[in-house]
Amino acid sequence: MDTHQLENAHQYCFHNGNMLKEEQICGCFYCQKIFLTSELQPEDFRPEQDGNDTVWCPYCGIDSVIGEKSGYPITAEWLAEMHRYWFSHGQE
Ligand SMILES: [Zn+2]
Repeated sequence: MDTHQLENAHQYCFHNGNMLKEEQICGCFYCQKIFLTSELQPEDFRPEQDGNDTVWCPYCGIDSVIGEKSGYPITAEWLAEMHRYWFSHGQE
């Protein structure tokens, strides 16, 4: 996956409350856990200043959760690639 796609995917990890209210597979690219949105608790949906909810990962507490309805593949490989790009950028 190229850099542009990794950057584009980042928009789905915030203001994603509405999208993630529908049951689907989702993954956190910080802790790289893959889980079902049915595991999310109401307190994992936190409102932003503009009124949209952002989902915070119930496993690591970081706002890095992306659902499959974003169109991206929620796989271990893809989450690892996202993690490398967004959290380890420039350190390799
Ligand atoms: Zn996490």
